[in-house]
Amino acid sequence: MQVAAPNPDLPAQLRVTPENPIRWIVVGQLLDAKNRRVLQHAHLIYDQNQIRYVGTAAPEAAILKDQKTPDLILPHHTALPGLIEGHSHTFLEGAELAAEKRADYQKQDPQTLYQRAATRLHPLARLGIIALRDGGDKDQVGLRLSRLTAAPDCPPFTARVFSPGAGIHRQGRYGGFFGKPVEDHADIESCVRARVAEGADHIKIVPTGIINFAKGQVVAPPQFSVEEIHQFRQAAHAQQKHLMAHASGELGVGYAIEGGVDTVEHGFFITDDQLARMRARNISWVPTFSPVQEQVDHADLMGWTGPTLDNLHRILENHARSLQKALARGVNVLVGSDSGSCGVAHGAGLFYEMELLERAGMPTLEILCQATHGNNRVLTGNRPFGSLEKGFKPRFIVTLDNPLETVRNLQRERLVVFDGAAESSATVSLENL
Ligand SMILES: [Zn+2]
Repeated sequence: MQVAAPNPDLPAQLRVTPENPIRWIVVGQLLDAKNRRVLQHAHLIYDQNQIRYVGTAAPEAAILKDQKTPDLILPHHTALPGLIEGHSHTFLEGAELAAEKRADYQKQDPQTLYQRAATRLHPLARLGIIALRDGGDKDQVGLRLSRLTAAPDCPPFTARVFSPGAGIHRQGRYGGFFGKPVEDHADIESCVRARVAEGADHIKIVPTGIINFAKGQVVAPPQFSVEEIHQFRQAAHAQQKHLMAHASGELGVGYAIEGGVDTVEHGFFITDDQLARMRARNISWVPTFSPVQEQVDHADLMGWTGPTLDNLHRILENHARSLQKALARGVNVLVGSDSGSCGVAHGAGLFYEMELLERAGMPTLEILCQATHGNNRVLTGNRPFGSLEKGFKPRFIVTLDNPLETVRNLQRERLVVFDGAAESSATVSLENL
């Protein structure tokens, strides 16, 4: 067997060109995320627009006209679908930790915020993140990115953005920096209709506040009642949109579940009974370990010591236990980092979240399948990506470092194919994401 060495020509060999409009590669492993299995020695044939064939058997001659042998054999590489970030605030600069600088950043005018967010989409795609499900902003940044990236003439290597427009919160309560109050509208139904009319891909509500780290719990009462959340659900579903709910704290998480949201975001302090209810009601969970872990990782800078730091550790430990119980119960756990929130950089944040899920006990294969096909099924509306299937978009990762051993291997250099273009992730600077 030949020994694999780093090959600087690989991106060129994976690229679709006018001379080579169809590429036929063979990889040592291929992640079939839809069927939760790994194919060995798999063929993958693609052109600029779609995947033409995936399988372990040699392709039929009709697919390839005269070609008899593959363009490229990579016996030590793994191919997997492009990743989908399940929870992003694309308008924010995540890596920044200083509260003052974060506040200043958000004071920029909407056009500047939009331009800065738009510049993130190319490096993200080149890192292998092909789509983002946004958690909201109040300046139409996400809606504009959604329109930009859905356009047929959108250039390759642009991550697709799915936006709820502004999140919806209770006037005077948490959520003002990424949302607008429901009170801007006559009632819940007209609020949801207005979001959809503006172009929202899904509806984001903020039924609870956030964790008070010093107290180690969610102190504020829920913002919306079960009945109100149910009205959001009915209005969103009437428009074929899923309902995404920021919720932490036992009381508020319970309201969200009983109200019938589609996804619980964060879900800190969730109980075992609530996990069972989520399974029964087919509600997905995006646990977002990253924003709390970042507080621990940078405790010195954030000023957390003593009992507050103990609280943070305890919250994360309980969250990991809940994750294990959720998986044992069959709850649909999805992968999103809350990138853009304090310390959670775009790009690196998703890879770190996958690492944190793995550390907390989620099986590696499960993480990879959920960050691709699983996220696409629930969060981005079953688009033709996030899975290596015939007819799907050729947007995938090829890596020498086996991600099935540990998701941490995805943080090493990898190749990304995006609609016939191909680049190495090593060309991307993680700065300013
Ligand atoms: Zn968020």
